[in-house]
Amino acid sequence: MINVSPKCIGCNKCVPVCPFAAIQLIDKKAVINEACTLCGACVQICPVSAIEITREEASARDLSGYKGVWVFVELMESPDDAKRPRIKPVTFELLSVGRRLADELGEELSAVLLTDKNYGFEKELGAYGADKMYLAENPELYEYNTDIFATAIIALVNKHKPAAMLYGATIMGRDLAPRVASCLYTGLTADCTALAIKDGLLLQSRPAFGGNIMADILSPNSRPQMATVRPNVMKLAEPIYGKVAMTVREDIKIDKNLRRVKVLERHLTRDKGGVKIEDAKIIVSGGRGMKTKEKFKVLEELSRLLGGVVGASRAAVDLGLKDKSHQVGQSGATVSPKLYLSFGISGAVQHIVGMKSSDVIVAVNKDPNAPIFGVAKYGVVGDAHEIAPKLIEALKKK
Ligand code: FAD
Ligand code: SF4
Ligand code: SF4
Repeated sequence: MINVSPKCIGCNKCVPVCPFAAIQLIDKKAVINEACTLCGACVQICPVSAIEITREEASARDLSGYKGVWVFVELMESPDDAKRPRIKPVTFELLSVGRRLADELGEELSAVLLTDKNYGFEKELGAYGADKMYLAENPELYEYNTDIFATAIIALVNKHKPAAMLYGATIMGRDLAPRVASCLYTGLTADCTALAIKDGLLLQSRPAFGGNIMADILSPNSRPQMATVRPNVMKLAEPIYGKVAMTVREDIKIDKNLRRVKVLERHLTRDKGGVKIEDAKIIVSGGRGMKTKEKFKVLEELSRLLGGVVGASRAAVDLGLKDKSHQVGQSGATVSPKLYLSFGISGAVQHIVGMKSSDVIVAVNKDPNAPIFGVAKYGVVGDAHEIAPKLIEALKKK
């Protein structure tokens, strides 16, 4: 329920920010009509806190009207075309898992796209399983802004009532999803590593207590059930080209005054060539067993010969053998290359969660009981400092 208290001074600030034109100023007082979706945008802009939203007790709410799985579509700059962004790969991973969840529920999978222009993404989104593409097109959506994007998402959620919504655990998703969750008074499970349906609810699994146990989380009393998932965690489905998501245009009015943060300048730092570890097809990773920076260099050479990227355990990063941008694991990057070669890494659970979805894992460790062998397809019990140079020699001969 929304209520305007007598504190209202008729300043008119709330009227333009309402995405649904639900507020009118009558006799110098704000009056809110039934078009209100309880998005909360007016609450934050009122200078005298005259607008109050009271939410029903979670358990008293009828949640049966919430249907379908939504995926937030994240866009990124395209290296080939500065005028047309492209869809971040994590979106396709979310659609892949979202398709499975929607099928289990017998409901629709929808992609939610907030953008300044329609770039015609319905074919790509459809190929990865989206039945619908909710398209909010507005010049104010030209770049990510927490307030603007959250208001738009909240408005769409209140209008269409999805049962579940997934976001990439990216810089954008990690900022947006909590804001949306707190405004909607719903839960959010961050960094899920597995998603399933249990008794009609979204079962959200994620590592807890430093990765030592897996927590299974259900949100029976709130909607949408929301989760973020890190890139490279969910397996990408084979695209079905030819399937097109049905475009549902959403006319959302967005007032630029909602934007509390303005981007004044942008400085893009590009990697000095080379592939980012998250995108690498081959990773040669080293751990504490590599001992010194000098000895670690053998892995750089091996990686170069294989056309891969060097990775590292957190212990190796802490020892200064490699910098943090190469760290694989729970507090580093999640990777899923075709080939993951590990040298002198024990296989702590916090490392494993970041690389276990690699296609083929080869581990070299001198301890036959090292946990890394539990996830490796091929294991070599031996000294990394002998085996890595031998591999280099063999590759050079080839
Ligand atoms: P160790 O566990 O010390 O293992 C070294 C291995 O090298 C041993 O198995 C040893 O047998 C082997 N070895 C030694 N010499 C040789 C040799 N000559 N040849 C072959 N093998 C040899 N860790 C991560 O990696 N990534 C993360 O993102 C991460 N996040 C974390 C987050 C939290 C909240 C916490 C609590 C921990 C995190 N950790 C992370 C740390 C993790 O628990 C381990 O401490 C770390 O992964 C150990 O790194 P390691 O395997 O290189 O070192
Ligand atoms: Fe408009 Fe949102 Fe305020 Fe309702 S809560 S009146 S929809 S701005
Ligand atoms: Fe009244 Fe607040 Fe709206 Fe101003 S912003 S008109 S004070 S409710």
